[in-house]
Amino acid sequence: MRELRRDPLTGDEVLLSEDRVLERVPRAPHALGPEDCPFCPGHESHTTTTIDQIERDGRWVARAFANRRPAVALEGVEGVVRDGIHERTGGIGAHEVLVEAPEHAPLHTLPVQRTIDALTLGVRRLHDLRNDTRLRTVQWFRNQGTGAGASQPHPHAQIVALPIVPRRIAALVAHSRDHFQRTGRALLEAVREADLQDQRRVLFHEGPVLAVCPFAPRHPFEVWLVPAAPGPSFADAIPHEVDAVARALHRVNRALAEVVGAAPTTTTALGAPSGEDPAGLGWHVRIAPRLVTPAGLEEATGLAVHAVFPERAADLLRAHLDSPEA
Ligand SMILES: [Zn+2]
Repeated sequence: MRELRRDPLTGDEVLLSEDRVLERVPRAPHALGPEDCPFCPGHESHTTTTIDQIERDGRWVARAFANRRPAVALEGVEGVVRDGIHERTGGIGAHEVLVEAPEHAPLHTLPVQRTIDALTLGVRRLHDLRNDTRLRTVQWFRNQGTGAGASQPHPHAQIVALPIVPRRIAALVAHSRDHFQRTGRALLEAVREADLQDQRRVLFHEGPVLAVCPFAPRHPFEVWLVPAAPGPSFADAIPHEVDAVARALHRVNRALAEVVGAAPTTTTALGAPSGEDPAGLGWHVRIAPRLVTPAGLEEATGLAVHAVFPERAADLLRAHLDSPEA
């Protein structure tokens, strides 16, 4: 049973997926060593069939396959069903796992080429999945650490494709469109320029990618990777951009490991819904350590509440940046 439902009062969306309950059963994932890890090389039969992979020297270095217990799947009722004031959408979608390296170790501790290959595969899968026009939002993300929801310690990302455009993405589109109509300029580009001019929150600027602590971070030590003039969605990223954003991600994650230790971290690529090219909206990557557990004020108001100003976060992270890897 999989359904997307909407809270009729707030409009908040919830993805209900019965199979997922199983994943909430504690099973000490960090106790999983390479010998019983389903993502380690040699254990491919413990996952579903490979959909796509990147090979080096005759062996895979990144591979994608369907999640065994998907949050959404290509089945069920299509479209929105209204039942009085209640609204539900069948759980049509896709849920893929992308193992990011053959090594059973955090991605930022491996050579930067692993991150480049991992993101290259991610963009390739996004590109393929958006050919299905029923899938409105094709979202790439990675969870690192159990507190961020990772059920396996082996480095991996996921892609979830949904038949709706969630409110948060719709708001991003609307803000960008409004700004473009008012000023004739791209909102993301305006944000990028303002940060470059200010400099206080900038970590580094290399090739097309600016690494910056955002003006209003939802999370302490949040970092954004913003390319120059990106396409509408991460699926549109070209190899030169993927290379630059992977190098930046690797460098930021190394600095974050120094500053916040092994804190659970989520990394997401935000951008336009599939098939849309709203004026002024481009993809960018957000890296968010999860150091704060949301409580009452956040729950009631949707406000993010924390103690770390981005200017201070940028100072600390800059002090821990190593030089870019060749
Ligand atoms: Zn492993």
